Amino acid sequence: MLNPLEEVLAKQISMHGPMDVGQFMAVALGHPEHGYYMKKDPFGADGDFVTAPEVSQLFGEMLGAWVADVWGQMGRPSRFALLECGPGRGTLMADMLRAVRGVGGFIEAVEVHFLEVSPVLRAAQRRALTGFNPRWHETLETVPDDVPVIVIGNEFLDALGFRSLQKTREGWCERVIAFDEDQEVFCFALRPAGTEIVAEIPFHLRGSAVGAVFEVAPVRNQFLTQVALRVGAQGGAALFVDYGHEKTAVGDTFQAVKGNNYVDVLHDVGEADLTSHVDFEALVGDVPSAVKVHGPVAQGAFLRALGIELRAQRLLAGASPEQGAELEKGLHRLIDSDQMGALFKVICLGGDDAERGQSLRPCGF
Ligand code: SAH
Repeated sequence: MLNPLEEVLAKQISMHGPMDVGQFMAVALGHPEHGYYMKKDPFGADGDFVTAPEVSQLFGEMLGAWVADVWGQMGRPSRFALLECGPGRGTLMADMLRAVRGVGGFIEAVEVHFLEVSPVLRAAQRRALTGFNPRWHETLETVPDDVPVIVIGNEFLDALGFRSLQKTREGWCERVIAFDEDQEVFCFALRPAGTEIVAEIPFHLRGSAVGAVFEVAPVRNQFLTQVALRVGAQGGAALFVDYGHEKTAVGDTFQAVKGNNYVDVLHDVGEADLTSHVDFEALVGDVPSAVKVHGPVAQGAFLRALGIELRAQRLLAGASPEQGAELEKGLHRLIDSDQMGALFKVICLGGDDAERGQSLRPCGF
């Protein structure tokens, strides 16, 4: 039996033919009625996955300190936009603002903006940010362009669609998603890849062995370029945290997560989160030269450089044994290499206007 979202996808495929992975993800995650992000709050131990801000308040506190430092380096503008992309439950923004409320002038200057598609999560964000009067956006276009901007995004880029190519004996093909009407299941199929998309594969990887998979994420990379243009034009910085690899490489990273487990990407569509790993080298490939790229660095190293261990010690001093155990568990989950510390990477885009002496030196890189 197909669920309502699978009915929609099967119908679209029977009308227009197989879909590329990006088209499939866009419908599975973002369909206005049945899309994964449109109908539920996926976070937490009882949900589908746990993100860094939901692991521990320490994460938001460190990022809040980072933002306040950048704001200071920018000369403490009396008005600036703090834009969070894909804010989930609003926990990160709430923790950041709480952490920096003692920084003189910051709270008066900050305008909170959210880029968010999910009505369910927008409601959660509104509850988490009472008193801050956030503004929501569907795209970057409506975000104010007349003030400096600091952009933050945790586990946002991985949700933006990608396309998957596979080397065959006949050359590079695109892995697309078809629907098997007899078995009533979605399945992968191959079609010849357009020259335009094959051009995205770096030369040194074009000769990969038969069977190799290569992922390209034009939507994600263009999004980052748009952010870079904003940072360059308006002044400010952007910080993105996500799982992925530093150097472009072959490999199939398409994944589905449900109930804190990996599940089949083509099964129970719309009930699991669909993502892929971020290729950080490709991500920053088109960033204009007026903007400086810092990192990527591993999340563990970044948070340590910002003083997360010291902050944890301070909190431990006043904590009950239960709270202390919880705090330590959260700290290790965020920074240890066998947990989130190494797979997750942090990248920063900073205005690099050396002539005006405004070359940003972001902490943690
Ligand atoms: N940053 C949060 C949530 C990460 S999950 C955290 O760390 O807990 C991804 C978030 O991005 C969700 O809020 C989801 O609704 C949002 N999202 C996914 N695709 C989006 C898109 N194309 N535009 C805007 N928001 C999107």
